[in-house]
Amino acid sequence: MKPVAKDFIPASRIALADDHLRKAIFAGAMRPYLQAAERWAETSGRERLRTQAREARVRALRKLPELLERLEKNLLSRGAKVLWAADAEEANRLIAQECVARDARLVVKGKSMVTEETGLNQHLERAGMEVVESDLGEFIIQLAGETPSHIIAPVLHKSKDAIAKLFSERLGLPLTDDPAEMMRAARSYLREKFLRADVGISGVNLAVAETGGLVLVTNEGNGRMVTTLPRTHIAVMGLERVVESWKDLASIVQLLPRVATGQSVSTYVSIIHGPRQQGEPDGPEELVLVIVDNGRSAILNSDYAESLLCIRCGACLNACPVYRRVGGHAYGWVYPGPIGSVISPLLLGLAEAPDLPMASSLCGACRDACPVKIDLPEMLVRLRAEPPMRRKGGRMMSLGMKMWRYVMLHPSVYRWGLAATRFLTRPWHGEDGSLRGLPGPASAWLESRDLPAPAPRSFRALYRGPER
Ligand code: SF4
Repeated sequence: MKPVAKDFIPASRIALADDHLRKAIFAGAMRPYLQAAERWAETSGRERLRTQAREARVRALRKLPELLERLEKNLLSRGAKVLWAADAEEANRLIAQECVARDARLVVKGKSMVTEETGLNQHLERAGMEVVESDLGEFIIQLAGETPSHIIAPVLHKSKDAIAKLFSERLGLPLTDDPAEMMRAARSYLREKFLRADVGISGVNLAVAETGGLVLVTNEGNGRMVTTLPRTHIAVMGLERVVESWKDLASIVQLLPRVATGQSVSTYVSIIHGPRQQGEPDGPEELVLVIVDNGRSAILNSDYAESLLCIRCGACLNACPVYRRVGGHAYGWVYPGPIGSVISPLLLGLAEAPDLPMASSLCGACRDACPVKIDLPEMLVRLRAEPPMRRKGGRMMSLGMKMWRYVMLHPSVYRWGLAATRFLTRPWHGEDGSLRGLPGPASAWLESRDLPAPAPRSFRALYRGPER
């Protein structure tokens, strides 16, 4: 997926102007958010679970090289092959080589964020292969020629009618508003692909170093089809997606469906320990695991290592007032919402995503929603202070900040300034207590914001007591 994260502001304006899209995104994000809140409320020991999950992820990052080596050793001992990719280009090249070596023509894929990040589909297609996404949401997105707009609900921005029209145009299904009918059509289309596919490519939610287990958490049966029906299964994971033990995994797997979709448990949790072993009735003949760095080691050694704790549950997106209004496409790359505003600039470089650290009101809802307690607002603030961002503010910003500092350090100037502001803005005080406008260029501030008018009496004056 080609990054266009530089265009966040114009893309947000377009999204905000589209009423239909805005309503679809808001409803699509609110549904899992409210369901997750309900499930969360009835989860006993929820804070303990969150702490355990965070500790498991922190421990994993601390021991990352050792755990990855253990994972590799365990997988090799069961006949799997393990490849390491330093960047997106190498990951695509290695996977394409594995496919070409098996004369693969048709590749079926399960959901995988890291392959979205590397642009694997396009790479394999350029090499002459047919690549079919099998997760229903990803399948719809692929049919539409679009990109996902949410980490776990890629089609959140599309209405039922739009999907029905797409299925009619691309799959020849008579127009219907029955989702079950649409699902049946997708299933029969995909079933035939699964049976003919030469290679299945999947992501990995988490890997367990202790035994070399690759864990996939899904709600559709497609994950199992991708990983068992084709002769070769290629699993692709970011190098941070490992935990030490099954005990560590347990707390995360309990949390993931609760915060992501508001389910108590996911429909499928698949655990893969290698290719089909002697005496086993099914499974692929070969398993290849590709472990991708692509900038993660640099993040691990930076002040932003905490962002690698992420388990890609999508809860912070649903909680974010910015994401709920502009949707995922405005963020211009694979990872939208608060986690995207942190990791996209880190993975792409701040120059490629200069507005994303500003795409937050810092309300803290993302931190509260995060099952592993990642302090996203704190990292956003820190990103805003990085040198390229400081320069971006320009001279006006720097002058404004200096003036603000001066005012805040001088109480008499502050009091005088407040009284002057109250007096000077009087013509624009609305009856509802808001400011209806401001003079000159300051009016731009109110184009997309509501600002209360200065109160008739300041807090200090109220504190001193009633007017005499
Ligand atoms: S940052 Fe936290 S809430 Fe957001 S996707 Fe990652 S784990 Fe989920």
